Amino acid sequence: MKKLAENRNNEKRFTGLAISSGLILGRVCLLSQSRHNPLPSYQVSDKGKSRELARLKLAIAAVVKHLKVLQEKVAERIGQAEAEIFIAQGMIVQDPALFLEMEQTLQNGFNAETAVLLTMQDYETKLSAVDDVYMGERAGDIGELKHRLLDELCDTRPSFICAEDTNCRRGKDRIVIAEELTASMTLEINTDRVLGFVTERGGKTSHAAILARALGIPAVSGIENIHNLVPCGTEVLLNGETGEVVVAPSLQTRSDAVAVETFRRLPPADPVPQLRVMANISLASETSELKEMMAEGVGLYRTEFEFFSAGRLLNEQEQFEIYSEVVAAMDGQEIYFRLLDLGADKTLPSFDLPSEENPALGCRGARLLLMRPELLKQQARAIARASAGGSIFVMYPMVIGLTQFRQLRKIFDAATGDLDTTNIRHGVMFEVPSACLEADELLAEADFASIGSNDLIQYLFAVDRNNEHVADGFTPDSEVFWRLLGDLVAAAKKASKPLSLCGELASDTDFTAKLLALGIRSVSVSPRHIAQVRHAATEAAKERKLT
Ligand code: PEP
Ligand code: MG
Repeated sequence: MKKLAENRNNEKRFTGLAISSGLILGRVCLLSQSRHNPLPSYQVSDKGKSRELARLKLAIAAVVKHLKVLQEKVAERIGQAEAEIFIAQGMIVQDPALFLEMEQTLQNGFNAETAVLLTMQDYETKLSAVDDVYMGERAGDIGELKHRLLDELCDTRPSFICAEDTNCRRGKDRIVIAEELTASMTLEINTDRVLGFVTERGGKTSHAAILARALGIPAVSGIENIHNLVPCGTEVLLNGETGEVVVAPSLQTRSDAVAVETFRRLPPADPVPQLRVMANISLASETSELKEMMAEGVGLYRTEFEFFSAGRLLNEQEQFEIYSEVVAAMDGQEIYFRLLDLGADKTLPSFDLPSEENPALGCRGARLLLMRPELLKQQARAIARASAGGSIFVMYPMVIGLTQFRQLRKIFDAATGDLDTTNIRHGVMFEVPSACLEADELLAEADFASIGSNDLIQYLFAVDRNNEHVADGFTPDSEVFWRLLGDLVAAAKKASKPLSLCGELASDTDFTAKLLALGIRSVSVSPRHIAQVRHAATEAAKERKLT
């Protein structure tokens, strides 16, 4: 977390992790999650042990029941994959090994609250100590279950700090500040009325972040101690796209924000002739808004997010069902399925990836698919089975060159030999400089290509795309980068193959005119950016007389 200089009167600016986009100005409600202080802790006589055991069992049963309700609610409101978070939590809380440990603590003469606290805290600490995003999130699940059990035992609930006050808004039309945004909180607070979330902890790929995005609630996390820095009712400007949170924003900051927001909340815009604008999605459920936004297809479907959302590997049949939903929703429009792009920051322990010193340059993307061909084969079959009635483009992520592309294609073709693949085209993502240097050869064989500018900038300039300390160096604003893009456009033209751009650069309207001038005629952006990119393209065309 980086605190920027105080400026513009008394406003204070913080930058955290942008986990769910949207810009919102509102007053805050502070949610207290440290609600079991002091926790009842007492020694229990032999006679009292069975009473404590019965209390513990009742608490577990109540939590299981509550999780079931949450699961049904999420399945109905968001989707089955998201609902699985609560199935997983239900399994953890009923885990026999966990119960045995708590029972052992009871046998040692502790009360039920202490048994829950000691056991769950031990697991939480061990999981948090592992330097792994996924494990960190499981620690979050354990922490959430600990709170749930203690809530049942102590008959308490998370509460808004000023809930005693009759004026307390309890999150309604407010930005909720909490220590951690848990998946259940996202659902249990009346999210229809919550404006946004700011939290101290929580990752971008956490379930809570995925849910916040699916519900369209802007959220920023990773702002240390924010809970203690902002009193209830303070006005805050939250930018879920840049991760910036401005406390007590000045008039100038507010009016700047209104201008940006008005621009962002543009009503859907019709397609424009000079630039095709498709949509980037991560989950099948996101297709619901694409019609309204008039997306000209799905230009990047980050399929690995379906796996993260489920918290595990999905088998061929499960993938087939999800992909079929996307195909049906897009009703014949083109869909660019990006094959699983796993590794580095996109990982799960169930994938059993080796622990690496430098995972960004290790087992990831295309290289990982070659190391774990069964993943590619299952996905290939699921896509092929779902492709009937669709127009499917399969994109190979992080490809380093022609040889690797050929190896991947061979596995794909062998796995789908018995299936109809006539609706499928195969293409590469240009994300690694070596592949760009081989663009002519790659485009001679591939059916199309798409530029992944996020990773291309990362690997071209050796600058981590996720590291705030080097964020200044992570920019497309460089002559060398544009020269490389120009070479890719020329290679695509020479090979007469379609080229698109699906990294974040495509959404940045400061660069729309430059992309058009370079010859890029197709991009893919997050759905809420479609209208503004079309407007920027129209403006650019007026100035440059492009058609
Ligand atoms: C990219 O790298 O630009 C890209 C589109 O892929 P991702 O952001 O998912 O790595
Ligand atoms: Mg990428």
